[in-house]
Amino acid sequence: MQVASRFFPRAFGRHSSTLRRTLSASAAAVKSPPPTTPDLPTLSMSGEKIAIGWDTRTWSRFHAWWLADHCRCPQCFHPVTKQRLVNTFEIPLGITPSKVDPTPEGLLVSWPSAKPHESLYPWSWLRRVSYDPVIPEAREPVPEKILWGSKILTSPPTITYEEAMAQDDRGLYKWLSNVDRFGICFVSGVPANPEATEELSQRIGFIRETQYGKFWDFTSDLAKGDTAYTTLALAAHTDNTYFTDPCGLQLFHLLSHTEGTGGSTLLVDGFYVASLLKELHPEAYAILSRTPVPAHAAGEPSALYRPSPPGGYPVLSHDPVTGELTQVRFNNDDRSVMSHLASQQLEDWYSAIRIWHKLLTSADSEYWVQLGPRTAVVVDNHRVLHGRSAFTGKRRMCGAYIGVDEYRSRLAVLRERFDGKGSPGDHLERSVWSPGL
Ligand SMILES: [Zn+2]
Repeated sequence: MQVASRFFPRAFGRHSSTLRRTLSASAAAVKSPPPTTPDLPTLSMSGEKIAIGWDTRTWSRFHAWWLADHCRCPQCFHPVTKQRLVNTFEIPLGITPSKVDPTPEGLLVSWPSAKPHESLYPWSWLRRVSYDPVIPEAREPVPEKILWGSKILTSPPTITYEEAMAQDDRGLYKWLSNVDRFGICFVSGVPANPEATEELSQRIGFIRETQYGKFWDFTSDLAKGDTAYTTLALAAHTDNTYFTDPCGLQLFHLLSHTEGTGGSTLLVDGFYVASLLKELHPEAYAILSRTPVPAHAAGEPSALYRPSPPGGYPVLSHDPVTGELTQVRFNNDDRSVMSHLASQQLEDWYSAIRIWHKLLTSADSEYWVQLGPRTAVVVDNHRVLHGRSAFTGKRRMCGAYIGVDEYRSRLAVLRERFDGKGSPGDHLERSVWSPGL
């Protein structure tokens, strides 16, 4: 604190609570006219906070201890592993900088310490992470989602197998961007064999192994205790409602259908149906957003899956930060006994789920497509529900699950590469100031 009291008055004297950048008065600066520098943000200190004035009306206030905790110098943040090294719990709550300077590169903060320490925070980063207040236009942009109904059949998002497999990953980026925007994307021209389909799946990420195996290749022979392995019709559902963490994506490819008919694939945008429900029946939407639903997978004697906690999760889950819908979880066939709700809550939930079902099965929502060999489809299992009509004959289907985190990670890296400042194909060195760190 000795150090602080020595520096503090100079930087934050009673009559100079607002600091403007002053060019260092070097001899060189005196000889030639001062270079024209863009206006730097204004700084002011009040209490334990540093305020940054972006313009006359917009100020961001940061706690000094928050800035210390977010120092990204190589001593405080590992430049390679991108992990925090600073000991958060050694930063005194009442810490105040010994000096703050606005520089063209960013906010320069000097900290009082036995070992003097300087932190430099880029301005663009400070605007992006500003929390008091949030500056919405400076936040990382959220890619738009396109909600769809049955009319998507005129131009469903599709890429070619060649694009998906191309070495430069541009096609992969297009593929995953489509999945992110629409929740589905077809891949045309896939060789009609399990090996090529498995390789295609692995372009996205690790295949997620489950009780159904790793890469599945199955027919309607009830090889596994699930209705997927029958010829029965399946109503629109998401998979793995009985998992704590349902798979993120699934890819499937109908390799052959012989000696029979039927078996159309049904796809429904759960986010679209939810948007209708929210608009037309907000109370039902609220009930489906808060009522947990238990589920199970018990068709295999060797397995008994239930989510944790066993009460399950609501049909509609939201981002606790933004309130945005993030996940649809619905499989009426896998629902367990509803004995966890009071009588009135039960009535309310059954009314709400009936309205949901009506919207889900309306002609406006249902997209029916007859899949055939050489066309695979990727479905976001947290958003799009799938089903099929009954069929006769023999169908051979193959496919895989891919974890949501693997898919999101792959997409994030492709965004860095193709939407970042590097030229296409570059593997950019990730900055310690990158979004998301
Ligand atoms: Zn540091």
